[in-house]
Formats: sequence, C-alpha cells, structure tokens
Amino acid sequence: MKDIEALKELQKIDVEIFKIRTDLEEKPQKIKKIEDDFNALYRSLKELEDVLKKMQLEHKEKELELQSKEDVVKKQKGQLYQVKTNKELYSLQLEINKENADNSLLEDEIIVIMEKVDKFKRLITQEKAKLAQEQVKLNKNKADIEVDIRELSEKLEALNASRKRAVEACIDPQVLQLYERILENKGEIAIVPIDGEICSGCFRSVRPQVVNELRLGKLKTCENCARIIYVENDN
Ligand SMILES: [Zn+2]
Repeated sequence: MKDIEALKELQKIDVEIFKIRTDLEEKPQKIKKIEDDFNALYRSLKELEDVLKKMQLEHKEKELELQSKEDVVKKQKGQLYQVKTNKELYSLQLEINKENADNSLLEDEIIVIMEKVDKFKRLITQEKAKLAQEQVKLNKNKADIEVDIRELSEKLEALNASRKRAVEACIDPQVLQLYERILENKGEIAIVPIDGEICSGCFRSVRPQVVNELRLGKLKTCENCARIIYVENDN
C-alpha cells in the first residue's frame, strides 16, 4: 500500500522534527540556568562586600572611640599635677590605670577587626577573580548554545522541506488527515508496525481479523491506542 510507505517516511521525518523541537525548546532554559548560576555568584560577592563595608565602619567607630578615650586619659594626666592631697592623687592614678587598661582592650579589639578586614579583602579579591573566570565561561557557553540553536534551526528547516515532499507523496488526503490527527493526539508516533499480533505502539494484541484485513491491504488503526498499524515485510 503506497500510502503506508509514504506515511512511514513521513513518520521518520516527524520523529526527527520532534527531537529537534524538544532540543530547541530546552536551549533557552539552559541559557537561563547558567545565567542564574552566575548571578548567584555575583550576589554572594556583593554580600561579602557588604560585610566588609560594615567591618570597615566598625573599625572606624572603634578608632574614634579609642581616640576620645585617650584624650580623656591625657587630660587626667595633666590633672595629676594639680591635685592637692595624696588621696586625690591616688584615686586619680587609679582611674587613669583603669582607663588605660580599658583602652588596651579596645586596641586589641581594633587589631582583631583589622585582621578580619584584611582577610575579607583577600577573600573578595579571590572571589572577584573567580567571577571574572565565570563570566568568560558564561559567555562561551551562551555562544555555544546560540550556535546549537542556529544549527538546529537550519536542520529543522531542511526537515520541514523533506516533510513537505513526504506529504505530497501521500495519495489519499484522508489518510494524511488521519495521520496528522493521531500525531497531534499522541505527540510523536502515529503509525506503528505490528509485531506478530502485537501493536508496537501500545504493546496490546490486535485482533486476528484486523491482522487479516491489514494483510488484505486495508488501512487500519489499533483499537487500543488508535495509531495506524501496518504489517512489516508483508507479502
Ligand atoms: Zn496500539
């Protein structure tokens, strides 16, 4: 049966078209995924930079605090020469000692913050280098995917031309219509051979009477999955 041969050819082309379309549909998602990954890296770098800014601010505040406290001590040291009694001298000296000890603790805190700032600056430099590498990778991957899209689109165009020829080879427009309708419903495969008495579309049995009719050259569909069925190597 000539139409069956034409439909088989058409089906072969449609399977390829289906594959390419699926492939093409996935490409924009792939681009989005690599962009999302890059943006996540970028955001974490920005977060590090924010943390650094806060630390630097804290550093500045502590330095100011230390300076004003040191000014107090300086002033008190000046007062040491003006006190009248030993008792006053003793209590002022005690206060100065206490403030010196406090300031020394504050200095230690400042050193810890400065070390943290240095560490963060190094980390940010590393992360920036990493991000620059990722940017190169991102651009390359995107360009590769865009090449793929172009190639696939060209293939699709060629396949559509072949499809047009295969459609023209179908003699009976009703048969073609049937095929198109099944293809639309089933998504990819509209015509399948039977293997013995088993439909290779749904793997259910085909009634012997239907098999006989197929052998007589009739166009039949599977009573279970509704696909067009044919007998392979029929003589
Ligand atoms: Zn079936």
